[in-house]
Amino acid sequence: MEGYNYIGGRWCPSRSGRWFDKRNPADTRDLIGRFPLSSAEDIAEAVEAAQQAYARWRLVPAPRRGEIVRRIGDLLVQRKEELARAMTREMGKPLVEARGDVQEAIDTAYYAAAEGRRLFGYNTPSELPNKVNLSFRMPVGVCGIITAWNFPIAVPSWKIFPALVCGNTVVWKPSEDAPHCANLLAEVVAEAGVPEGVLNVVHGDAEAGEALVRHPAVRLIAFTGSTVVGRHIASICGQLNKKCSLEMGGKNPLIVLPDAPFELALEGVLWGAFGTTGQRCTATSRLILHRDIAETFVEQLCQRTSALRVGNGLDEHVQVGPIINERQLQRIESYVRSGLEEGARLLVGGHRLTDGEYAHGFFFAPTIFADVTPRMRIFREEIFGPVLSVTVVDSLDEAIAVANQSDYGLSSSIYTRDITAAFQAIRDLEAGITYVNAPTIGAEAHMPFGGIKGTGNGHREGGWTVFDIFTEWKTVYIDYSGRLQRAQIDTETS
Ligand code: NAD
Repeated sequence: MEGYNYIGGRWCPSRSGRWFDKRNPADTRDLIGRFPLSSAEDIAEAVEAAQQAYARWRLVPAPRRGEIVRRIGDLLVQRKEELARAMTREMGKPLVEARGDVQEAIDTAYYAAAEGRRLFGYNTPSELPNKVNLSFRMPVGVCGIITAWNFPIAVPSWKIFPALVCGNTVVWKPSEDAPHCANLLAEVVAEAGVPEGVLNVVHGDAEAGEALVRHPAVRLIAFTGSTVVGRHIASICGQLNKKCSLEMGGKNPLIVLPDAPFELALEGVLWGAFGTTGQRCTATSRLILHRDIAETFVEQLCQRTSALRVGNGLDEHVQVGPIINERQLQRIESYVRSGLEEGARLLVGGHRLTDGEYAHGFFFAPTIFADVTPRMRIFREEIFGPVLSVTVVDSLDEAIAVANQSDYGLSSSIYTRDITAAFQAIRDLEAGITYVNAPTIGAEAHMPFGGIKGTGNGHREGGWTVFDIFTEWKTVYIDYSGRLQRAQIDTETS
């Protein structure tokens, strides 16, 4: 299959004439297709198309734009199974999770569509007589969207659908690890009636991404990916004075107290740590156990972890899919070596799976390390793989202090039946999201999503807050007094 860029409503190759291959990570003999390795020239063409489309799209009434986005949701419903299968084949997550990924985009489409009839502003009294003060949300303009591969339909939808409802046009640089899903989403968007040039897709790697960030006509960059790339993008946006929203890495703690519902906590840790093969920004990567239950909990967790079915996600029985690519597999191996060198105790896993059904894919055994201390790299750095570290503590206060010893602040969780402990954790955990008696993963489309510290830069996608990213405020004063009224100076009340 040959995949193309989607610019101004046309499918076209890169002007560079270069391509990259995308293969199935569960079986690299399976070529998904080749896609354009685009350059700054392709980005410039896409931005031009987006600028032209913006002139008309911004004037389409927001409720009408919302109706088009609702149709995107309807089409995603119709094509859910097809998209989920394509996603599993392209990036490996088990089918059940791929269906969830598409469902999240459907939920986002319907939520964003309805916002077309809200996009509320504020009316407030003026400090002067016979004068009214209003405020409106305005579109930002051409938005550059850059995304990671691990939620190839859901994460782009979090950005693209609200951006469109708000009247912006978009140039999207999807991940080079999930280009086919990007084209399927673009197809759906076009079929729903989004006009030419309103959404443009330019494939490629850092070169295309950086050209998008640097293009002077791009007014906003919305990025999801690693903290190292996000910081780099933010520094360019800072110099160019562009609006920039960043959703980056995580190192998410899950605390289990002695009074926790034991079975529920076990199930939660397994799902949080090894769902999506640990390749989620919200993956549970640090398990913080109270000493009173630590031994029994770890014993049972290891048993269950060893029993997880690893394999090709297209097999409905598989619970843990492949790692995305060879580079990431090597990165996980290097963290396992680092854990061993720094004195952590490897309990299960810790190695590639290479025999039989695994021979042609990137598979890694679900891994647990015990005796992990906050100084170790495996405790501090995002591994983005099926590696869980366990740290034992003696109190709730210590658990929270250990959880907060992190440069990241995305998700967090506590298992307890004690409401006082739960509320203390909600108050004190340094994270954008806290779950009580649920693992660190499981965001819902209508709630704010994002993190603090190294995870974000103060914005929240999802819910009502994403509309703050994709709009600018226009403040309006209407004076019907018929005379010059000077704010702060003419303070007489008559
Ligand atoms: P990545 O940072 O390597 O790449 C993300 C995107 O940025 C890709 O499209 C890539 O081509 C592009 N890119 C790379 N260098 C660039 C540059 N110099 N200029 C512009 N664009 C550039 O991340 P990844 O490996 O695709 O995804 C994994 C990371 O994403 C993890 O750190 C994970 O935690 C994070 N993530 C965060 C969230 C969230 O919402 N917080 C969600 C999903 C994934």
